[in-house]
Amino acid sequence: MKIGIMGGTFDPIHIGHLLLGEFAYEDFGLDEIWFLPNGNPPHKDSRAVGEDIEERVEMVRLAIHGVPYFRLSLYEATEHKESYTYQTMAYFKETYPEHDFYFILGADSLFSIEKWKYFREIFPSCTILAAMRDDKDQEDMERQIQYLTEKYEAKIALLKAPLLEISSTTIRERAAKGLTVRYMLPDLVAKYIREKGFYKNGESENPGKAEKIAEKRTI
Ligand code: ATP
Ligand code: MG
Repeated sequence: MKIGIMGGTFDPIHIGHLLLGEFAYEDFGLDEIWFLPNGNPPHKDSRAVGEDIEERVEMVRLAIHGVPYFRLSLYEATEHKESYTYQTMAYFKETYPEHDFYFILGADSLFSIEKWKYFREIFPSCTILAAMRDDKDQEDMERQIQYLTEKYEAKIALLKAPLLEISSTTIRERAAKGLTVRYMLPDLVAKYIREKGFYKNGESENPGKAEKIAEKRTI
């Protein structure tokens, strides 16, 4: 089978991640997309905000619920405290030799991949599907793809998904201020964040204005 790997911190998962999975599935004829939440980063203690791996996994579970070709991989969440992509991909290749792997990522990751540990080992293990993000346009992407392809014999394709200026950071910051995050992530995830009181920094306990209005509507 052709398997897309959608790795991330997912703190929280949002529609940017889900659309990457959905468009990769369709455009590249993939059979499944495995969402792969990263374990707790070693520097977790120094992070001002952010949820533990159990909570991030639960949000991914809620987000992909009901989509038969979206699956959750707990490999990095449970196996390793510190997980590196090259190790995970080596493990997947060895454990599932019958599958072809497609590693899905956004522009920021494509442009920083040379800083990843033993990144050269990633290239022979998969095809990379890279999506545009923020200020990187198609020309920037194509240049970077050509550079990595020529230098490392990497297999990289441009993944054309809707451009969304959404990040987990923005969502955490908005949630902390009590601003709406509706439609930036699946309803079930937004509800879970609200109920658990995630990403609050004590500044505001109030729901956003849009939420207050929505609660009052009866028709
Ligand atoms: P944070 O703001 O916490 O870094 P994030 O939104 O960047 O969160 P990550 O979990 O860091 O989400 O990202 C996982 C992968 O998804 C990365 O390869 C990233 O480039 C990609 N990605 C996330 N959001 C988008 C988006 N809106 N468009 C394209 N790619 C995205
Ligand atoms: Mg990120």
